[in-house]
Order: sequence, then structure tokens, then C-alpha cells
Amino acid sequence: LPKEQPKPEVVYKVGTEPTFPPFEFLDKNTNQITGFDIELIKAIAQEEGFKVEIINLGFEGLIPALQAGTINIIASGMTITDKRKEQIDFSNPYVNSGLAIAVAKNNDTIKSEADLKGKKVAVQIGTTGANKADELKKKGIIKTIKTYNTVDVVMAEVAKGTVDAAINDAPVTQDFISKGHSEIKIVGDLLDSEQYGFAVAKGKKELLDKINSGLKKVIEKGKYEELRKKYNLP
Ligand code: GLN
Repeated sequence: LPKEQPKPEVVYKVGTEPTFPPFEFLDKNTNQITGFDIELIKAIAQEEGFKVEIINLGFEGLIPALQAGTINIIASGMTITDKRKEQIDFSNPYVNSGLAIAVAKNNDTIKSEADLKGKKVAVQIGTTGANKADELKKKGIIKTIKTYNTVDVVMAEVAKGTVDAAINDAPVTQDFISKGHSEIKIVGDLLDSEQYGFAVAKGKKELLDKINSGLKKVIEKGKYEELRKKYNLP
């Protein structure tokens, strides 16, 4: 009998911007990128029989990398938007989120979107938070937008008081607050509601089907709920 050949291993490259806890962050003990999104895509990969390699990229570089074929999947707390759908294909949504205003704890003048009038606001480049800030600037509310590459720097600037506020995804800001940035607080209502999806290059239907099928199985088997608990998602 011919010797059985091992099945070739399919490895997909997964791009992520790891300053976005609890969804993706650098685990200081292992020096590996981990988080809810990373464990979820790995669980999906296991169900569907593929492997993943995690690639650290800037948030703005993710869509170009997908289009160039440098990566195969985005797993980076990326909000499903109509504009992005013109460039890439999204999986079914896997998390509900929304934008929140964050200010320094001792700030008692900013309590809502309207209070951002004349203020300096920090955002991460290329994000829905940055789009929201642009919109509020055009409306004559925000005066100055400070754009940073990573969310940890956005949070540090709010804490230091070099900016008046930040606009960022609420669950991420909440995670920063509960993990040491107690000098920051969230104020007011959420500015919008959003859903995160994994993304693939346009037309990669086979891969997208695998991701959606794996996501469904991971939810049915309870692994999804287990990860939500592990990462303190409500
Ligand atoms: N959810 C936001 C967006 O898609 C921010 C994502 C992020 O910074 N990783 O723009």
C-alpha cells in the first residue's frame, strides 16, 4: 500500500492592530498577540481545519494588506461599514459595539457630544472614531482633532490632559479604564452603534464561507460565550 501522504496544511495570515484590548493586545508574559478576536479566529480555524498566523500591522494598513494579498483575513475589531464594504468583504457580525467619549476623571465640563464644542479630541487613525470626530468638526463642534497611530497613545493623551477627550470604541476604552487607566472615565451616551466583522479580500467567497460556518459552530458549541466571559464582554 502507498504510504498515506499528510494533508497539506492551509495557513491563513491574519492581520491585526494589537493596541485594542480586550479584542487584540500583546500579552506581556508570552510576548504574543492574543485577545477575544484572536482566540475566536483560532477557534474558527480549528473547526474549519486551517491554521492561522497572526500579523501585526497598523490599523490603516489592514485593508491595503488584504487587497495586496499580504494577509488573508482581518481580525481587528473592525466595524462593518458600507464604505469598507466597497473595498472588502465582511463575515457575519461577531460583536456589537459603539463609540464613546472618554475624558480625564477630573473633567466635569464634558458630559455629552455637544460639550465637545471648541475642544481638542484624540482619535486613532483610520477608525470609525476618527470619522465621527471629522463629522463633529465639520458641524463646528470639535475644534481640533489629534490623530494617533495606536489606541494606547490616545488613552495616554487623555490621561495626561494634553487633549480634552477621545472618541473610541466603548468596550476598548472600558478595558483600558479597568486595567490601570483609572484616571479616565466614559461620559454620556454611545455616539453610535456598530458591529465588528472579520474581513477577507473581495470575492474570497470560499474563505468567507469557512469563517461564517466556523463562527456558527463556535457559537453553537459554547466556545464563543466562554471567550466573552474570559474577556469580560457583557
Ligand atoms: N471599530 C473601529 C473601527 O473599525 C476601531 C477599530 C480599531 O481601532 N481596531 O474603525
